[in-house]
Amino acid sequence: MYDCDFAAYLSGMPDRSGFFEWFESLCQERNPADKFAFVLVDIDKFRLINHALGFKNGDRVLAEMAERSKHVAGADACLFRMAGDTFLAIKRISSGQELRELAHSLLREIRMPISIGRYKLCISACAGVCQYPKDGDNVNTLLTKLDILLEKAKAAGGDNYRICAKEDTSCFEYDGSRYYEVYKDIGYAIMRNEMQMNYQPIVELKHNRIVGFEALLRWNHRKYGMVSPACFIPMAEKSNDIVPIGDWVLDQSIRQCKAWHNQGYNDVSISVNVSANQLKDSKLCSKVKKRLESWNLNPSFLELELTESALISNMDEAHRMLDILRRMGVEISIDDFGTGYSSLNYVTNLNIDLIKIDKSYVAALPNNRKRKVIISAIIRAAHELDKKVIAEGVETKEQCETLREFGCDCFQGYFYSKPVSSEIATKMLAGRHMPTNNPFPCRSSLL
Ligand code: C2E
Ligand code: MG
Ligand code: MG
Repeated sequence: MYDCDFAAYLSGMPDRSGFFEWFESLCQERNPADKFAFVLVDIDKFRLINHALGFKNGDRVLAEMAERSKHVAGADACLFRMAGDTFLAIKRISSGQELRELAHSLLREIRMPISIGRYKLCISACAGVCQYPKDGDNVNTLLTKLDILLEKAKAAGGDNYRICAKEDTSCFEYDGSRYYEVYKDIGYAIMRNEMQMNYQPIVELKHNRIVGFEALLRWNHRKYGMVSPACFIPMAEKSNDIVPIGDWVLDQSIRQCKAWHNQGYNDVSISVNVSANQLKDSKLCSKVKKRLESWNLNPSFLELELTESALISNMDEAHRMLDILRRMGVEISIDDFGTGYSSLNYVTNLNIDLIKIDKSYVAALPNNRKRKVIISAIIRAAHELDKKVIAEGVETKEQCETLREFGCDCFQGYFYSKPVSSEIATKMLAGRHMPTNNPFPCRSSLL
C-alpha cells in the first residue's frame, strides 16, 4: 500500500502534456514584464537505483525527490514530471541571479541523504536552466535548450547544473528542422570539404613570443554557413562522428606544424583538442603515433588537450592512454581548468604537462579579488608540481599584465589574436622575427 502511494503520487503529478497546457495559458495571460526560471532536473544514474534496489524503491526515490523539489521551489512554483526521472520546476523570478539560486538549492536538497528501507542513499542530479522569455518564448526552443544544457551538465560528470549562456545560444539558432539537418550532416562535412582548421597563437608571457598554436576546427555548412564549434562539437560527440573528425584534425594539425618547421619556425608546437569519445577509442595512441611518423614531426611538438570531464568519464583508460602518449614524448594538457571539478588532485595524479585556465576565470581579472587569489594559487601550485600554465581568453592588456605578475607561462586570447587561417598564422610567425619595439610585432599589421 505504502509503495502504491508513491506510485500514485508520481502518476498524480502533472506530466509533459500538463506542461504544454500550462505553458499555453502562460503565453496567453503573461504580463510582458514577467520572468520565469525553468529548471530541468534529472537524477544521476537513476537506472542504477532501479536495478540495484528494485523499481518500487526507484518510485519511492522519485517521489521523495519530487517532494523535496516542490518544497525548495516554494508554494508558487510549478513542478511537472517530464519523463521517468526528469522533472521541470518553474518559478516566477525578479532577476537572473535567482536562476542560479533555484538550481543550486534544488540540487543541494536532492543531495541530502535519503533512507529507503534499510538503505541510506546519497543521490545527485543535474539540471539545465533557462530564463523565460529571455532564452526562448516558445515551448520547442525552451525544451531543446533545457535538454542540451542538461546533457552538457551530465557530460561534465554529474551533480551540477548549466545555465543558458551567450556561448550556448549559437546552437539554439538551429531550432527544429535546422538543428536536425545540421546534426545529420556532420558526418559528411569532411567529405564535402566543409571543414577547415584555424589556428590561435599561444604566446609566452616572458618574451611576448608565439611558441605554438591551438588548432580549432571550423565548419562552413553548405546551407547555413559557419556553425559554431560550441554547437557542432557536442553534436559530433553525440553521434560519435567526432572520432573520424578528430583523426582528420590530428592529421591536418600535425601536417601544418611540420610545414612551419620546414619553413624555419622549428620551435613552434601545435595543440589539438581531444574529446572524451576519442579517449575511448582504443586505437587513439597508435593513430597519433602513425600520424607523427608519417609527417615526421618530433612528438614533443604535439600537445593534446583534454578536459577534466573527458578524463573523469574514462579515468582508468585515461591513465593508461596518457602514460603511453607521454612515453611517446607527446605533451598533455588539461583544458578549461576551473569549469569542472578543478581538483589539483588530477594534476598531481595524472601524467600531464600543462594546465589551461578557463576563460571564465580570466574574464574576472583584474578586478575580482577572489578569482585573482584562485588563479595565482593555481599557477603557484602548478609550478610546484612542475607543470606549465596557459591562460585562455585573455582579452585585455590588464588581464595580460596581471597574469604576467602571477608568473603565468603563456596566454591565448583575442588580446593577441583570434583564431586565424594557416596563411595568417604563418605571416604571424614571420613577423615574430622583425626587429621592433612593439611588444607584439606580428599582431599590428595583420589584425
Ligand atoms: P577550447 O579548446 O577551450 O578553445 C578555446 C575557445 O576559446 C575557442 O573557441 C576560441 O576561439 C575561444 N577564444 C579564444 N580566445 C578568446 C578570447 O579572448 N575571448 C573569448 N571569449 N573566447 C576566446 P572555439 O574555436 O569556438 O571552440 C570552442 C570549443 O570547441 C573549444 O574550446 C573546444 O573545446 C572545441 N573544439 C574546437 N575545435 C575542436 C576540435 O578540433 N576537436 C574537439 N574535440 N573540440 C574542438
Ligand atoms: Mg582547447
Ligand atoms: Mg579551453
